[in-house]
Amino acid sequence: MPSKPTNANFDVFIIGAGPAGAAAAISLREIMPDARVCIADIEKSTHFRVGESVPPPIKPFLDHLGVTTAFENAAHNPTFRTLSAWGSSGLESNEFFLHTYNTGWRLDRANFDAMLKTEAIRRGTTNISARAFSLAESPHGWLIDCGNAGKFSTRYIIDASGHAAIVSRWLKYAPRKLDRLIGCTVFFEHQTQQPELFDTEAAVIEACHQGWWYTAAIPGHRKIAILMTDVDIARQSGIANMSTWLHYFSLTKHIKQRINTRFPLTQPMILPASSRCFTDTYPPGIIAVGDAISSFDPLSSQGIVKALRSALYASYAIADCYLRNDTMGFSKYFTLMRNEFDNYSLTWQNYYQREQRWPEAPFWQRRHRMKRT
Ligand SMILES: Cc1cc2nc3c(=O)[nH]c(=O)nc-3n(C[C@H](O)[C@H](O)[C@H](O)COP(=O)(O)OP(=O)(O)OC[C@H]3O[C@@H](n4cnc5c(N)ncnc54)[C@H](O)[C@@H]3O)c2cc1C
Repeated sequence: MPSKPTNANFDVFIIGAGPAGAAAAISLREIMPDARVCIADIEKSTHFRVGESVPPPIKPFLDHLGVTTAFENAAHNPTFRTLSAWGSSGLESNEFFLHTYNTGWRLDRANFDAMLKTEAIRRGTTNISARAFSLAESPHGWLIDCGNAGKFSTRYIIDASGHAAIVSRWLKYAPRKLDRLIGCTVFFEHQTQQPELFDTEAAVIEACHQGWWYTAAIPGHRKIAILMTDVDIARQSGIANMSTWLHYFSLTKHIKQRINTRFPLTQPMILPASSRCFTDTYPPGIIAVGDAISSFDPLSSQGIVKALRSALYASYAIADCYLRNDTMGFSKYFTLMRNEFDNYSLTWQNYYQREQRWPEAPFWQRRHRMKRT
C-alpha cells in the first residue's frame, strides 16, 4: 500500500491543547509571528474536567499571555484562602492576602482550557482535532502520524500531552517518580441549602488514613470531591466503586459537612496524579511542557501555573533556535525543569512529614521513609 502523503508542513507541532499546549501556541505566535504553528488534540465531550484550584501567582502569566480580559470575562470563582486539616484534625487557614497577587481562583476548568485554545487559534495557530499516534524522523525534522487526520511534517515538536507524556513514551523514556498517587473524583450538584460553614467556597484538604481528601465549590453550582491515595491502595480498597467511595467519605470530619451526597453528577473517576519528572535528553527539536515534562502533587495546586510557566520558557527556547539558530535554550530549559523538580521534591517530602497521625498506614509510611533515605 502506498504511504499516505504528508498533509501539511509546520514549524512547530504541539501535541495537546491543555493549558501548557495552548499557552505555548499563544506565546510562539507572539514572538515568531511568521512561524506556522499547529496544535492537535483529541476531541473531548465532557465538561467534568479535574484540576481547578489556582493560586494567586497565575496572574502574571495570564497578563504575559495577554489573556487577562478573556479570563476575567469568564465565570471563575475568586478565592482568598485554602483550609486544611493536616497534622491535626482542626482546620487551619492558609490566607492569600499576603501574596503579591492576593486572589486565587476556582476555575471552570473546561471553560478555562477552551478559552486558552480559542486565544491560540485567534492568534493564527492551526487547530487539528486528532490524536497523535507516532513519530518518525524526516529530512526537514519530524513527521507526526495522526491516523485518519493525516501526517504532518514539522521542525519542532512540543509534547504537551499531559500525564500521557506521549512523546516520552514513544521514545521509551522512564520518568523519575516519587509516588504512585491517583485521584478518585466525584462531581456533585452544589445545593445552596447546605449548612453555613466558615467559607463554604474555600477548598478544603483533610488528611486521612488512606491519603487525603480535597473538596471545593466550582462554577456551575457544582462541588468536586477527591480522595487522593496510592494506586495499589485504591485497588485493594475498591474506591472506584461508588458505595466504597461513599463509605470512606463518611469517615471524614470536614469534607462530608460540605457536600450533599444525594446529588452526584458522576461516578468516581480515577486519574493519575503521581509526582514525576522526565530527565532524559530529548532529540533535537523536541521539547516537553506542562505535565508531559514533570507533574506535581495536586496538594501543591501548582499544576496549571507550572504548565503556563514551562510553556513560556519552552517557547523562548524554540524562538532562539528558530530566529537565531541558537540551540542553547533547549538545554537551559531542561536544566531549569530538572532543578525545579528537585526543589519541589524536597518541599513535597517536608510537607508529608508534617502529618504523623497514621504511622502504621502504608500511604504515610512510604512518604516518611523517603525523607529518611
Ligand atoms: C486529581 C487531580 C487534581 C488536580 N488538581 C489541580 C488543582 O487543583 N490545581 C492545579 O493547578 N492543578 C491540578 N492538577 C494538575 C493539573 O490538572 C495539570 O497539572 C494540568 O492539567 C497540566 O496541564 P497540561 O496542559 O500539561 O496537561 P493536560 O491539561 O492534561 O492537557 C493535555 C492534553 O493533551 C491531550 N493529549 C494527550 N495525548 C494526546 C495525543 N496522543 N494526541 C493529541 N492530544 C493528546 C489531552 O487530550 C489533553 O487535552 C490536578 C491533577 C489531578 C490528577
